[in-house]
Amino acid sequence: MAITVLIPSALQAYTGNQSEVQVQASTVGEALQAVVATYPELRKHLYNEQGKLRSFVNVYLGEEDTRYLQGLETLVKDGDTLMIVPSIAGGSVSVLEHEAVQRASLDNEEILRYSRHLILPDVAMEGQTKLKAAKVLCVGAGGLGSPLALYLTAAGVGTIGLVDFDVVDLTNLQRQVLYTSQDVGRPKLEVAKERLQAMNPHVTIRTYETRLTRENALEIFSDYDIIVDGTDNFATRYLVNDACVLLGKPNVYGSIFRFEGQASVFYAKEGPCYRCLYPEPPPPGLVPSCAEGGVLGVLPGIIGTIQAMETIKLILGRGEPLIGRLLLFNALKMQFRELKLRKNPQCPVCGQNPVIRELIDYEEFCGMRGEESTASVDVIEEITPTELKRRLDAGDDIFLLDVREPVEWQICRLDGAVLIPMNTIPARMHELDSAREIVVYCRSGKRSAQIAAFLKAAGFRKVKNLQGGILQWSDEVDPTVPKY
Ligand SMILES: [Zn+2]
Repeated sequence: MAITVLIPSALQAYTGNQSEVQVQASTVGEALQAVVATYPELRKHLYNEQGKLRSFVNVYLGEEDTRYLQGLETLVKDGDTLMIVPSIAGGSVSVLEHEAVQRASLDNEEILRYSRHLILPDVAMEGQTKLKAAKVLCVGAGGLGSPLALYLTAAGVGTIGLVDFDVVDLTNLQRQVLYTSQDVGRPKLEVAKERLQAMNPHVTIRTYETRLTRENALEIFSDYDIIVDGTDNFATRYLVNDACVLLGKPNVYGSIFRFEGQASVFYAKEGPCYRCLYPEPPPPGLVPSCAEGGVLGVLPGIIGTIQAMETIKLILGRGEPLIGRLLLFNALKMQFRELKLRKNPQCPVCGQNPVIRELIDYEEFCGMRGEESTASVDVIEEITPTELKRRLDAGDDIFLLDVREPVEWQICRLDGAVLIPMNTIPARMHELDSAREIVVYCRSGKRSAQIAAFLKAAGFRKVKNLQGGILQWSDEVDPTVPKY
């Protein structure tokens, strides 16, 4: 049977950039085995050490999750398409308090402002009053949070909370449309509040300039009707999910990577939660972040506005929310796909016998504080850019190993360096001379530390990591090397 397996962009680095792989197979399991036989690098991303499919890898046959068919035993027929959906993270429902809607009313200026809503039968005075009574919390005021907050404010959502602790950075402006060049260096929430308030003074903007944690999440969330997840890391995404399940609130989810996006509404009262889809996060480093993998600036605009639309539908109690459905968007193909999501009866937080009854340590859960990773990075010797420059100028024999991606190499590089992208190091290790001193570098020093640890474990004794990477080199040694 000829089967097509669709590879998501996060995993295409391991399939020679192929987005589709044709294989011969009669079951889902055989198809996946055929794919990893062709692309062995992919194996550890799909299977664990025991050879079992990893729990954060979902395989869909058409629009059905194969976990709810016969799993890996599910039969496939000629022409079928399987889709690998890794984490990158019907019917109308009403989420507002009746009393709050009763209290809200519009003045004449608001009636004029919202007139295009008021003449729309599905919104009308009743809907606009619900929007005014609604309280929506946006977690993150970045790429997704910008369009989301702008549209919710324009639409007249009465109370909007924003959680973020960042300052505006020049690299944000390519996609975070709340901010301008003049805002670089200012706290995001200060700027966001000014901009949103200028757009619509009838809306109350509350800001929480803090990192969302297990200690503060329930307290902050408890005052809102809907939580919108605009975060970019797994620890916060699981925290948002679990807090929403525990409080019985809907979680409007969106995530983006390169040219692909996902959106859904996780509302455990009515359907599945994020953990029903992905019980566990991928190990750190397996799925790159937008800072490492890049993202096209328009993509968060599209996904963030979808989140705004879903939020407004939930408030109005109109239409069919994305509950129980995962929307997948591919910008290069300009294609939307939809997958059915089912509530998992064994879900650790919203299932029949939940084991998570309070918020946990999400950084530990996501492996960000794993003892292994800190220990292995600790023993790696570092060299500062200033010291490296001094030694290179003195004519010392040092092999400069650049482990970034080719697109980063095009932006800038250190003189005399050799490029071997980190994913290809295991296969190309024989190109390195273990007798020579090797200094590994990347953009910030994080990826190169992992590779230095890997090389050390493989027997290279004279390996050092360039502290702070290209960024610190640009600061300390050569400001003509651009930062990115
Ligand atoms: Zn669940």
